Amino acid sequence: IEPIHVIGGGLAGSEATWQIAQAGVPVVLHEMRPVRGTDAHKTEGLAELVCSNSFRSDDAETNAVGLLHQEMRSLGSLIMAKGDANQVPAGGALAVDRDGFSDAVTAALESHPLVTIERGEIAGLPPAEWSSVIVATGPLTSPALAEAILGLTGETSLAFFDAIAPIVYRESINMEIAWFQSRYDKVGPGGTGKDYINCPMTKEQYDAFVDALIAGDKTEFKEWEADTPYFDGCLPIEVMAERGRETLRHGPMKPVGLTDPRNPDKKPYAIVQLRQDNALGTLFNMVGFQTKLKYGAQGDIFRMIPGLENAEFARLGGIHRNTYLNSPKLLDPTLRLKAMPRLRFAGQITGCEGYVESAAVGLMTGRFAAAERLGRPIEPLPHTTALGALINHITGGHIETIDEGPRSFQPMNVNFGLFPPLAQAPKAEDGKRLRGPAKAVARKKALTDRARADLAAWLSAG
Ligand code: FAD
Repeated sequence: IEPIHVIGGGLAGSEATWQIAQAGVPVVLHEMRPVRGTDAHKTEGLAELVCSNSFRSDDAETNAVGLLHQEMRSLGSLIMAKGDANQVPAGGALAVDRDGFSDAVTAALESHPLVTIERGEIAGLPPAEWSSVIVATGPLTSPALAEAILGLTGETSLAFFDAIAPIVYRESINMEIAWFQSRYDKVGPGGTGKDYINCPMTKEQYDAFVDALIAGDKTEFKEWEADTPYFDGCLPIEVMAERGRETLRHGPMKPVGLTDPRNPDKKPYAIVQLRQDNALGTLFNMVGFQTKLKYGAQGDIFRMIPGLENAEFARLGGIHRNTYLNSPKLLDPTLRLKAMPRLRFAGQITGCEGYVESAAVGLMTGRFAAAERLGRPIEPLPHTTALGALINHITGGHIETIDEGPRSFQPMNVNFGLFPPLAQAPKAEDGKRLRGPAKAVARKKALTDRARADLAAWLSAG
């Protein structure tokens, strides 16, 4: 069988490669690292996590990304298998040891008999003789390839920034002030209910900190970057501070669900949380503290946080570009480029957002390409599943209105808003109408139950 070519060995490309090989089709994976690097990657490993080490919630009953985890596991996902095998404690989230995870993905692909890995940049349109190609080059697609794609699609891709949260050496945190506790003592996979390090602040300390964030030296925007929107859900901490004095206290620094053991009767005014970043437990990342502050300013300002006064940083925060297609217009329902159907796209370049979503789109694109190569029919996934809802959002679920303008398609995490509404609102056991939080939980449970049933039916039909 003629091989399928996958360009980019990140979250999406690694998963797509695995799915193709597992379907019995030979596949060549082209990864440019270490021959050529990106602004964010630090290693030559496949599926490198460039920022947080979290795959987010693992709750498949009431959380859309948790449901996506579950669906991917049931479709034999390599990314989920190796994520599960390398998890570190993180409350209700699935967080992973980033090096162990990337090493395991790399080893699995290197040892697969149908996978060939070639290190080198594809610096333009893939050769015409490659009859089936998946482009999974991510938010930091090399400029030469990005330009070739732009030339082909005629669309301008949207570039914007996200930001890396700083990582602190555990031993440099003052545990006389800070304490271990997960919010609401939640115990997640491999967790203990004491997975996060918490640093408390008084009102005076919080006010001084917010002032310092606002006044701190920031990285300047370049002219061509000026109207670029931020990566949603990853807003720089100083931008949140600028939005209002209380914004941080209601966001990443919210003091709820946590009790200072040295001061159980006095609620801290704000709390900074740090999450374990590696299996050894020697590194912790500052949750929600992605930033475009200059390196010098970051050290000074973050050491104002009680407990971090002597913090040593293994990595400071940074800013990065993102590249993605206007997919609803450009891609067909099996993620083929309408203008050149031998090319499929996968991962963040399609306009999904996040590690898990990128891998999920890689999983489906790989399956679509393999089915096509084998001459098997391609059954679309029900939009009621998390995978189907995500693919549908990317390839057609987003409707452009005249008011929104031609580029209203924005990257999106998986969420229940992408799922078709329930035919009937769930009712209480006694048949009465549910209200408030109970109603919201029942709705989410009904959506995930429906997704599981529909995925099972799709799997047994295929
Ligand atoms: P990537 O994982 O980036 O993989 C693309 C691969 O393609 C890379 O290995 C690259 O070297 C290679 N490549 C690029 N061009 C070429 C070429 N021409 N030829 C050959 N190879 C090429 N998501 C989260 O869920 N949590 C986060 O905390 C988070 N933080 C982020 C921080 C930054 C700085 C960035 C840029 C993104 C972040 N994301 C985050 C978003 C996104 O989910 C990840 O970038 C994710 O890795 C995307 O997966 P991907 O497979 O599409 O791309």
